[in-house]
Amino acid sequence: MIGQTSLLVIYTGGTIGMVQDPKTGSLKPLSFENLYKYLPVLENFNCQIDFHTFNPLLDSSNMNPSFYVKLATEIEENYENYDGFVVMHGSDTMAYTASALSFMLENLNKPVIFTGSQLPIGMVRTDGRENFINAIEIAIAKEVDTPIVPEVGICFENKLFRGNRTTKLNTENFGAFISANYPLLAEVGVKIKYNRDCILRPNFKRLKVLKELDESIAILKLFPGISKCAVEAILNTCGLKAVILETFGAGNAPTLPWFLDALKEAADRDVIILNVTQCKGGTVEMGKYETSAELSKIGVIGGYDITTESAVTKLMYLLGCRFSTQAVKQLLQTSLRGEMTV
Ligand code: ASP
Repeated sequence: MIGQTSLLVIYTGGTIGMVQDPKTGSLKPLSFENLYKYLPVLENFNCQIDFHTFNPLLDSSNMNPSFYVKLATEIEENYENYDGFVVMHGSDTMAYTASALSFMLENLNKPVIFTGSQLPIGMVRTDGRENFINAIEIAIAKEVDTPIVPEVGICFENKLFRGNRTTKLNTENFGAFISANYPLLAEVGVKIKYNRDCILRPNFKRLKVLKELDESIAILKLFPGISKCAVEAILNTCGLKAVILETFGAGNAPTLPWFLDALKEAADRDVIILNVTQCKGGTVEMGKYETSAELSKIGVIGGYDITTESAVTKLMYLLGCRFSTQAVKQLLQTSLRGEMTV
């Protein structure tokens, strides 16, 4: 149908696509043939909506980089045929998958909107219906024939976030996500109000999909009293290429000699060390306090206000590109997809 907007909905698993079995009461995945039963309103969209269901459907805790590659490939193969994409995904690791996709889909000029829910779509009080419908509306929204949101977003509880800026904050509230360091891309009320100054602009270049992700990374989350043994065990993980150091406040860490020596020894082995704050909001400021100045001397890279989810997937992406260590360090301090404020 020439001129008709088209959308591909990709269902990967998670609570949103489940219904309660009336006999057993347990949750089971919903087949898309039955979707209209729960969402008759979909027929009112002046849009061709097609569905792709992953097999097997995954709880998002079981997702990993090879799943990210499958998802990115699904989008790549259908990229020219659709105006936008909605990904139905479990909320638990949605921030990781959305962040990963934002890096893998270079020159993305169409919306890829993730959504999910806290209650299954088949339940009376579900938040899934609203989330899903909002995501569809955002994924097909255009202005002068150009998508309004040509980037990877997460649509949850009347809010649209930049995917690589989000963190799952709450296991129960319908507002499950936050983006503490970046404004909302849109707010859904009677109208959908797009925050246009904060949305990436399309570059009209050809989509390039990077499908090599390198998992040789680890997270070292500090806590007062962390032992030498625990720190060394992480830094000596076999094949380790990069470690995310989750520090206190504005990027601070103990100044204990054994701790700094362990980091220096890893840095000397060419392990990249990225300093990311444990705080949900705010930025790392290397050198602001004595407790981070020492890290700078060792060669630890400041991650600014990047989330841990985004740092993990950005490192997998950069290492997968096989850049030199120097280039990776430089790109970690550069915002590639609006993932941090430099
Ligand atoms: N455990 C589910 C998942 O992440 C929870 C959800 O869908 O929200 O797949």
